[in-house]
Amino acid sequence: MASPDDIRRAQKQLLESIKRGARRDVRSRRGADTRQRAQAEKEVEYDDSGRKIPKPMFLRPADIAQGENYDVERVLYTTLGQGKGEAPRRITRDDILAFQENILLLKDQYSKGITPQSVINLSRQEDIDRANEEIHTVVPVSRESGLIHFVTNAGPHSKVVNHHVEVEFSNFKSVVFNIHKEAVSTVKNRLAYGNLKFECDCGRHTFWYRYMATIGGYGLGRQEGGFPKVRNPHLSGVACKHVLRVMQWIISPFGIQYLKKQVEADRTKQLGARTKPTTKQTKEILEQQANGAKPIKANLQHAEREMMRRAEKVAKQMYAKQLKELRALTKEFNTMAERQVMQSAARRLDQLLSDGVISQQQYEIFKRGTQ
Ligand SMILES: [Zn+2]
Repeated sequence: MASPDDIRRAQKQLLESIKRGARRDVRSRRGADTRQRAQAEKEVEYDDSGRKIPKPMFLRPADIAQGENYDVERVLYTTLGQGKGEAPRRITRDDILAFQENILLLKDQYSKGITPQSVINLSRQEDIDRANEEIHTVVPVSRESGLIHFVTNAGPHSKVVNHHVEVEFSNFKSVVFNIHKEAVSTVKNRLAYGNLKFECDCGRHTFWYRYMATIGGYGLGRQEGGFPKVRNPHLSGVACKHVLRVMQWIISPFGIQYLKKQVEADRTKQLGARTKPTTKQTKEILEQQANGAKPIKANLQHAEREMMRRAEKVAKQMYAKQLKELRALTKEFNTMAERQVMQSAARRLDQLLSDGVISQQQYEIFKRGTQ
């Protein structure tokens, strides 16, 4: 658990980075991320004879489609996102098959977003533990309609003092426009427990989860089309410790209260304008977290049900596809069988004519029936 000193330090760092300008900070980090990603695409290696060979940092959908025939050797010496001294890992055929399965399970499952509770439930325990041990503080620093920019403290081993998490609430506008719904329960059900999309500027999100967010449909910001074959080959988990801390805050009474105020603000002011909390409001939010944040806990039963729901959906799609193929095959078979019957009838007719059993005139009449 966090010591009071840890919490105080985290809060102080956060206040300072807000003063420096969080928007400017997140823009410069995004620029760096895009440049790095573009660089990764251009990297090449040289083989023994000095020939240039592409060095695939991220596998493309076309690579995955090759499935079992995938050329394992081609990605043998990949160095995607590897730390110093970390040995490159050989990608096995099983890895590729596992990717394919999980991509199918993820595909467009959350095109309207994913709920904060599902993010927590489906996360890896190691990410939840890290969030509980290292990330104590979160504050919203600006908002534009349903898109909220949060800043959290960074972990003790991080090169930076904060991380930026952006969250877009899918139902925000509809809640704002539905002025008959004043109750906290609406904000709670439609926003705090409703669908959202998110991104974080940390390495964990970039190398582990951004690709999944893209495939699943709940990603914000840069879309990643190549999968993290070294870092997260089986595509498990959902969110980094920073996102997890933000999700926990969103579903807490403080988060719900904050969201309710935002809805009220957009009902009375210019909708869609960028707004910032006042220093007083920020200090209040920090004060609420002065004794440490609430522990994050996954509901594993729900997680299991969620995975079953996904698997069932995929199974249904696969079944429908197989059924369609089967029908096409049956039709083709029937046509073939019919053609064979006609051919043998025509042969029999030729025989009857040459044996003198039927006349030429009769032959002509019957022949028409076999064509
Ligand atoms: Zn993060």
